[in-house]
Amino acid sequence: MKGYVHSLQSLGTVDGPGVRSVVFLSGCPLRCVYCHNPDTWEKKESQLTDADELAERLLSFYSFIKKGGVTFSGGEPLLQAEFVTEVTGILKKAGLHVAIDTCGSPVTPATERLLEVVDLFLLDIKMTTEEDYKRYTGGSLQATMAFLKRLEEMQKDVWIRHVVVPGINDTDEDIERLATLISGYKCIKKVELLPFRNLCLEKYRALEIPFQLENTPPMKADETERLERMLREALKL
Ligand code: SF4
Repeated sequence: MKGYVHSLQSLGTVDGPGVRSVVFLSGCPLRCVYCHNPDTWEKKESQLTDADELAERLLSFYSFIKKGGVTFSGGEPLLQAEFVTEVTGILKKAGLHVAIDTCGSPVTPATERLLEVVDLFLLDIKMTTEEDYKRYTGGSLQATMAFLKRLEEMQKDVWIRHVVVPGINDTDEDIERLATLISGYKCIKKVELLPFRNLCLEKYRALEIPFQLENTPPMKADETERLERMLREALKL
């Protein structure tokens, strides 16, 4: 079958363990105010690619990624669950580790099949209250938490990711709330706080989409590290 693929990063080291190829898929149900990839929101700009063709391309990097793997990102990979399941099946047969970078979504029969074959979920918990989640992403915290609960039931490995934005979710209270939300889940193996950067401004200008955080300063690295330490200590990770 065919899927909407935006682009491919042949080798990267920040989206999961080891050296990995990263596939950016098109289509996203959210509109996060800090999104770095607004060019992946719509499917129309992307290339319709055959699952076999994508898998073959990824396997051509095998010698570089055999100890790392492949990560599907986006956009939202779960929107194309059947396509990702097919590509993942081929990659798993070749012995590769597969991760998905996702904001979570209600589990359907198609996503359930995908959850079974994927090794690791990089789950983005974007905001820590339902109100903020709706306001800054257009989505639902409850849906993300339901997805996390399903991953726990399936004993899947999860890394939690959370972008920290000055003036929006950068206080100790925000991080304490995040710790409370995700404490007690055995599936969570790692937490990563990612500092907001406004490097995507040019992309928004080119797409003629207003960037709401144009005047928000980048999140300081040392403050992000302090908050991440606080979170790890709270979770004993
Ligand atoms: S979920 Fe990811 S791709 Fe979609 S709007 Fe949010 S940051 Fe952007």
